[in-house]
Amino acid sequence: MSHSATAAGDSLWRRIPLWQKILAGLVLGVLAGALLGEDASVFKPLGDIFINAIRMLIVPLVFSTLVVGITAMRDPQKMGRIGARTIVLYLVTTAFAIAIGLLASWLFQPGAGLDMSFESGVEAKEAPSLVEILVGLVPRNPIDALASGNILQIIVFAIGLGISLTLIGEKGEPAGRVFESFAEAMYKLTNFVMALAPFGVFGLIAHVAGNYGLEVLLPLAKVIGVAYLASVVHVLLVYSGLLALLGRLNPVRYLQGILDALVVAYSSASSSGTLPVSLRCAQKNLGVSEGVAGFVLPVGATINMDGTAIYQGVVAVFIAQLLGVDLSLMDYGMIIATGTLASIGTAGVPGAGLVMLSIVMAQIGLPLEAIAVIAGIDRILDMARTSVNVAGDLMVTTLVGQSEGELDRAVYDAARKS
Ligand code: ASP
Repeated sequence: MSHSATAAGDSLWRRIPLWQKILAGLVLGVLAGALLGEDASVFKPLGDIFINAIRMLIVPLVFSTLVVGITAMRDPQKMGRIGARTIVLYLVTTAFAIAIGLLASWLFQPGAGLDMSFESGVEAKEAPSLVEILVGLVPRNPIDALASGNILQIIVFAIGLGISLTLIGEKGEPAGRVFESFAEAMYKLTNFVMALAPFGVFGLIAHVAGNYGLEVLLPLAKVIGVAYLASVVHVLLVYSGLLALLGRLNPVRYLQGILDALVVAYSSASSSGTLPVSLRCAQKNLGVSEGVAGFVLPVGATINMDGTAIYQGVVAVFIAQLLGVDLSLMDYGMIIATGTLASIGTAGVPGAGLVMLSIVMAQIGLPLEAIAVIAGIDRILDMARTSVNVAGDLMVTTLVGQSEGELDRAVYDAARKS
């Protein structure tokens, strides 16, 4: 190819918005998987490189963004308010999510008339107690928390450091500027990594599409369909509704703005892994301030799992139907309560929700072995629930930003999203 032809191709590539390239990667990945079957796994290293690269960003990005965000806020009362609003919104949306999951399974009966055998091998998990959770929040060694990527502990340390830097006034300024410049560099690095996203998404999806043949998917098509439908309903009804009603914001702009994060969540099945992309979407596309995004999103990526809650509702009822067990109203209430807690305890990594499902199942007396029925297709369900998990974090971030005057309406309302 001549030099000018390469240059023309290069500028054409640049002119296509990133979200379109990422979507193209997704579609081509499905095609490659369908055509090549398991051989499509040759593309998986592309996905692994991309996932490693975004994982590389998480700890330094979250830490620096949060410290900078806190020092910029300068108001402990405001911080308390933001914290309280965040937690309330996260809990309320999760309860809605699980209720929608239950309702969908009850309406569409995905497990009725299915005859499937399963083998044991699943062990029940215990839900952590509230005291354990609280004690675990405080890092004994912040470097250890950073090294092991314990996001909640990192948040606690960053908030403490940010507040202290503000309180020491002038003396805190040099360190504050170091964090500012470091955070800027991390944003730049995020842009570089995101340039890889179309290829990474292609590699990840080709692998998944190539390895899940129709013979695995078809018998369980109904439960997959119900889980996906409940997810879409939750995003379109609850998230859009809350944005419009509470925030007076156009939900379409929100959906456009979170697209990159949705596709990365869908292909990676990890909401923690998607955090750098969510932070970028919140600030660049939705106009949320660094302080709010830097606090609300990392908290959400660790505790707010609406997609996982929907999944637990759908699957628990599905398995009860499969086994011909009649669930009482009390059982439904139990699923909502334990499902909400279990989803909070779910880590934002692939497959975590499947393990936590055992808590809900044990609570209503369903045999844990039955989890094996859906284990084979869990990745397909995981992709959808992770996307909802991330969409929920971004919705709450937008609402909290709006309610605190930390949302730039001009950015939010702008039609073009990168
Ligand atoms: N994979 C999900 C996430 O990262 C968690 C789950 O398995 O439910 O958000």
